[in-house]
Amino acid sequence: MAVLDDLTFDNQYLRDLPGDRVEGGRPRQVPGAAWSRVAPTETAGPEIIAVADEVAELLGLSDEQIASDEFRDMVSGNLVLPGMDPFAMRYGGHQFGNWAGQLGDGRAINLGELVTADGTRQTLQLKGSGPTPYSRTADGRAVLRSSIREFLCSEAMYHLGVPTTRALSLALSGDQVMRDMLYDGHPAYEPGAVVCRVAPTFIRFGNFEIFAASGELDELRALADFTIREYFPHLWPDDGEPDASTYVAFYREVVRRTAEVIVHWQRVGFVHGVMNTDNLSILGLTIDYGPYGWLEDFDPDWTPNTTDRHGKRYRYGNQPGIGQWNLAQLGNALFPLVDDAEPLQAAIDEYVVHFREEHQRMFAGKLGLHAWDGETDEALMVELMELLREAETDMTLFYRGLADVPAAESSDADERFGPLRNAFYRPDEELTDALRAKWDAWLDRYAARVRADGTSDEDRRAAMNSVNPLYVMRNYLAQLAIDKSEAGDHSGVLELLQVMRNPYDEQPGMEAYAEKRPDWARSRVGCSMLSCSS
Ligand code: AMP
Ligand code: MG
Repeated sequence: MAVLDDLTFDNQYLRDLPGDRVEGGRPRQVPGAAWSRVAPTETAGPEIIAVADEVAELLGLSDEQIASDEFRDMVSGNLVLPGMDPFAMRYGGHQFGNWAGQLGDGRAINLGELVTADGTRQTLQLKGSGPTPYSRTADGRAVLRSSIREFLCSEAMYHLGVPTTRALSLALSGDQVMRDMLYDGHPAYEPGAVVCRVAPTFIRFGNFEIFAASGELDELRALADFTIREYFPHLWPDDGEPDASTYVAFYREVVRRTAEVIVHWQRVGFVHGVMNTDNLSILGLTIDYGPYGWLEDFDPDWTPNTTDRHGKRYRYGNQPGIGQWNLAQLGNALFPLVDDAEPLQAAIDEYVVHFREEHQRMFAGKLGLHAWDGETDEALMVELMELLREAETDMTLFYRGLADVPAAESSDADERFGPLRNAFYRPDEELTDALRAKWDAWLDRYAARVRADGTSDEDRRAAMNSVNPLYVMRNYLAQLAIDKSEAGDHSGVLELLQVMRNPYDEQPGMEAYAEKRPDWARSRVGCSMLSCSS
């Protein structure tokens, strides 16, 4: 018996939603369809670089299965198991604020929905395994550098406690892929790779938008019903007859989940980089790791995406607002099912309220406070944001340092400031007496607030260090791992995966992964600037 034969697939998305009558075929418009059947393209020489054990466990895969040739072939697009029924999803999207029409899985192929031991379904999806009817003018491939970034960041986010799609494996395809990395007329061959992603579903806002924009209202209703029944079953009416109020309740929950995932991004300093509506998950998961980046020095205006460098639409500080904008597009798409703007408007108005509540709770946690105390803490936060911007300050190291600041009234200014010194990139030039005086004043108020809160320094430290990570997937760390991998040594990827498993714990011997971005990385491609060309 073949080692993977005991895997059970149940492909509900295909079964319950209307599809393309043609299988595979050239890029084209596919009206009325939620999906197109398409087989992954076989690759020249598949080779596994890394497997995320936690995801394998989630799927119920044994060590023996993972070590098998069948597994390698499955996650690289060379083996379609019995029960799988590979397909690409059709969706549309607003890109950089403009309606872009039909997009769809141009380089992602869903292999099938795996039924796990507890009866839940997980969709296995290959990214980079060849063209689909939605590839438009592109090749359906992915390069090693972007695949490493997706693989590592998915898992890093999971371990940070951020809702996300997962990554089971990273494999070289053995094929060479042509890319113009900087869009400057210098295309070059790069190693191709395939990531096997995992999520309950990969449905995005854009799946709803394409049906609404095309006037495909029966299909829109079918998709909404399917999504609610399968993924929001607590909203499914007892009589099995969803009505306008069901769709509003569904929308309201997507509003809340989207607010929550973005609060997490703000907490850990993650900048998605391309928050188009086709890259927002209906489940509120972080999805599509492309030109993302991590805030190193705290700069709310920073965007990692070079394509976005002028408008900076997707900068860190704009993510909350873009979440709302994207939800408004989803609301428009659901409108035909509700036929009344008022409850949809009320639902999206809750975004701001819910976001603020969640953000305050999150921020109280970052500061080590039990609860948010209205105007006092608002002022404390606003001043902190200003101070963090005044000198180049590493966000991650700052909050770890803050956990070590003594709150006792007897502690002096130097004792309080000491733990923060390491967070400054250019202390000699930027930490002037004037700025230092501002920090001392802020720390004085912070310490008083902590004392009023009544937590011991020890308890506060433990609480803060459980929400403020020490290790994040710093842009340059990923790039160092990529450089090594491109030269044939994948140990950097494996080590980074290992470190990111425990991002809140000090890991002896791994201190180098918790250091500030080195100077050479300040303006290097891949470290501070990313393009969509992946
Ligand atoms: P993104 O903004 O990277 O999520 O991609 C936007 C759209 O472009 C999606 O429909 C992707 O499937 C498609 N796309 C991106 N890269 C490729 C590629 N190399 N081949 C085919 N389609 C792609
Ligand atoms: Mg995408």
